[in-house]
Amino acid sequence: MRFPQIIRALSLVRPLGLAGALFSLLILAGYALGLEVFFRPMLGGPATHPLSAVALLALGLGAFCWHPRQSNRVVVLAGVFVVTLVSLRLLELAKGVTLLDWLTPFGRQLAEQAAAGHPISTGINTALMCLCFALALIAIGCKRYALAQQLAFVGLGFPMISFTGYAYGIDKFYGQMAMTTALGGSMVGAGILLSGAHRSFLRSILSPWIGGKVARVQILLGYFVPFLIGYCLALTIANNPLQQFGLFCVLISAFISMLVAFTAVIQESIDRSRRSAERRLVLVATLDSLTNLPNRRRFHDHGQWLLERVRRTGESLSALIFDIDYFKRINDTQGHPVGDAVLERLAAEARSILRRQDFLARYGGEEFVILLPGTQLAGAVQLGEKLRAHIAATDFPGAGQVTISLGCAEYLADESLQQLVARVDVALYQAKRSGRNRVVAVSEAPPAMNSVESCQAA
Ligand code: GH3
Ligand code: MG
Ligand code: MG
Repeated sequence: MRFPQIIRALSLVRPLGLAGALFSLLILAGYALGLEVFFRPMLGGPATHPLSAVALLALGLGAFCWHPRQSNRVVVLAGVFVVTLVSLRLLELAKGVTLLDWLTPFGRQLAEQAAAGHPISTGINTALMCLCFALALIAIGCKRYALAQQLAFVGLGFPMISFTGYAYGIDKFYGQMAMTTALGGSMVGAGILLSGAHRSFLRSILSPWIGGKVARVQILLGYFVPFLIGYCLALTIANNPLQQFGLFCVLISAFISMLVAFTAVIQESIDRSRRSAERRLVLVATLDSLTNLPNRRRFHDHGQWLLERVRRTGESLSALIFDIDYFKRINDTQGHPVGDAVLERLAAEARSILRRQDFLARYGGEEFVILLPGTQLAGAVQLGEKLRAHIAATDFPGAGQVTISLGCAEYLADESLQQLVARVDVALYQAKRSGRNRVVAVSEAPPAMNSVESCQAA
């Protein structure tokens, strides 16, 4: 799935690439038409070399030709071309040799600029910026988006430092990078960076969910706030550099702490809603919506836990299952809503006569199960009889008198929950068969199952 932010970011790739390419053409047109301001925007300041403009043109065209679902051979070719060009320039800078003269357009204009005392060359920062972008283009062509994003991000650092230098008036910062190079580089760099927006880091940063929103705010604040703090201090730094630098450090530390605190607050609020959603989910998954009693799934979980406790402590445990007699008739004659009301009332009445530690659950349609920790069979039979009599004496609105049949058994050592339930079920079946509205208990495991008690009423 693509988020709207990602679709928007991807739609910017081609326009940014085209803008960068056209901007580079404008720089080259400046050489062709003798319009110095196009390649040297600040009088006497740094200028964009024609080969830098050619590299930016190739990078811009590479970004312009990018397509998310096609092979992107042109993108790779543009990247390889610029890598070659820039490698030769870096070799020139490292070895002090001339390798690119034959390839450099506008030689005469360059010679005139040099003669006027303003030689123009591709500086190391421009070369490194183009190298990062060109390698990013190759990585995009090979669908290595994480690598491409990292390279494009590093590449964008060069024009950013340059802009900071221009803003602060620090010429060492912008060095040999002309404003035109920085602008053209930012355009093509942003285009290249965004072409991987549907993958890797950018996908998370552009997500419409809270994580993406927080990341975007943090990135914007993380860049602009220190920049502004630094800028304000730079205006006054001449008076007392050390004091201003100390203030800068304190402000930056305070800003980072605020950013971390802001993130912690957001994360905690996300985590709180997640925890409460989890609790709600567990409730929905384990509670019966009609009677508000634990459902069969919760009965199994709790039953397993109880059985393990009983095995460890050796205390007794009994189980009771009860089922409404002729419930189908109530549904058929009075309708399902009355049947539902009977189930609700029955659950409430049963709950009201049980102890806190007794566990009552809705086992199925109109069958309920009770686990009685610390209770032997005689106690379970007694409770079953009490419950049976209580229900028989209760008036159920719309249904009148309702009776239940009950089966019960005591847990036998090393028996599983399923085995215990199966024995109780057999007892319930016997209660039904022998006339309903009664409690039947079994004392031993099958096949030697033995009905020990049968209490009948009415
Ligand atoms: P017996 O005495 O043998 O138990 O007879 P019975 O009619 O109670 O037995 P049976 O199991 O055949 O019928 C159970 C009925 O319970 C069938 C089903 O429609 C009804 N039922 C199950 N769940 C619900 C429910 O949530 N609401 C309502 N109104 N009826 C339910
Ligand atoms: Mg029934
Ligand atoms: Mg039934």
